[in-house]
Amino acid sequence: MGIIVQKFGGTSVADAQRVRNVAERILYTQSKGHQMVIVVSAPAGKTDELLALAKGVAKKPTAREVDMLLATGEQISIALLAMAINDLGGKAISLTAAQVGIKTDNSHRKAKITEVASTRILSELAKGQVVIVAGFQGVNSQNDITTLGRGGSDTTAVALAAALKADMCEIYTDVDGVYTADPRLVPEAKKLKEISYEEMLEMASLGAKVLHLRAVELGKKYNVPIHVRSSFNENPGTIVRGGELMEQGKIVVGVAHDTKISKLTISKVKDNPGVAAKIFARLAEAGVNVDMIVQGASKEGLADISFTVNKEDAALAHDVATGMMQELSAQTVDRDDHKAKVSIIGTGMITNPGVAAKMFNALAEKGINIEMISTSDINISTVIPESEVEKAVVTLHNVFELDK
Ligand code: ADP
Ligand code: ASP
Ligand code: MG
Repeated sequence: MGIIVQKFGGTSVADAQRVRNVAERILYTQSKGHQMVIVVSAPAGKTDELLALAKGVAKKPTAREVDMLLATGEQISIALLAMAINDLGGKAISLTAAQVGIKTDNSHRKAKITEVASTRILSELAKGQVVIVAGFQGVNSQNDITTLGRGGSDTTAVALAAALKADMCEIYTDVDGVYTADPRLVPEAKKLKEISYEEMLEMASLGAKVLHLRAVELGKKYNVPIHVRSSFNENPGTIVRGGELMEQGKIVVGVAHDTKISKLTISKVKDNPGVAAKIFARLAEAGVNVDMIVQGASKEGLADISFTVNKEDAALAHDVATGMMQELSAQTVDRDDHKAKVSIIGTGMITNPGVAAKMFNALAEKGINIEMISTSDINISTVIPESEVEKAVVTLHNVFELDK
């Protein structure tokens, strides 16, 4: 039988007992005749702990060294899991990204995989080994360690599944699938049997961290179905795949939220051609990903420009914008870290007018102020105060009857 790639997230390998449980589960599947390639994340909390260490020694730790440090988290898990499997009488070998040959571009902390070598993995599989690969890491053209962005182990798994032409890619996590909203926020959320790559891409990019965005992109590109399921039970999970889906065309399939955003406002900028271009070019040069942008109505030739960025980029974005104040003759640059984005997602929205109005009405009725809006064919996003997130997500889940 063919190759199965399984990825176990941080909570699944958080302590010795869980590592042993995962080891048993892997050996059970192997005993059915499969060749097993396993990707693991750092134990839960480890990556945050390492980031805190970096902040303890440097105000702005250099990205290359942060990657060197963060990659050690995954190395703990691969070594421990291999030991546990060997101890249970199985055969396992742990490998770092460098040992496998997972190549990335040079952008430290958000590197993209460019190539995955399969020779080493295939030769270990041929010896009957369970091959355990460190998630989240890669090496660039100079063989320096890079990392793929928070949550990136999912992407390692899908990239390996594509390169090895695996029969299956399973993502084991602490929920038993993809739900209509984060089940931690909405207890009535329903598990989806399946979801299209397109809708999952939107969910992931709008904050549903159950799958890393790049993992879904690679799944779509190489047509790898991704099965999201729980490490703690045997329940069938959610299949993310292409082709015709039973539930396709639903107006709204899910609600996503993202509290990891910051809103910046540059006030009283001269409303001249080229001003926005200048601001956003400078931010891009600095490596800041800008998400939503709103320019307020111009008054006496002056306008406010607001935009959102990932919280991790907020300090840098603020520095860049502040550095341009004179050049723009702007009055102030404000940064607000207490905002959140709440979005609804569904491919059926294209053909159903009135969805946006229904969403905004529902939020208004609960007294939730919408500060920014963006829409596409398959999502509508709003920026609201962070304190209102739970109320907003629950309200939208109700209004669009996602529990039905
Ligand atoms: P892992 O460490 O296994 O990679 P993550 O914490 O990255 O796990 O992702 C799983 C978490 O994603 C869940 O615990 C859940 O709170 C969150 N989540 C957010 N949105 C959703 C959703 N729509 N469906 C399922 N889980 C979601
Ligand atoms: N350990 C990394 C993180 O916490 C990668 C991952 O868990 O997927 O972001
Ligand atoms: Mg994750």
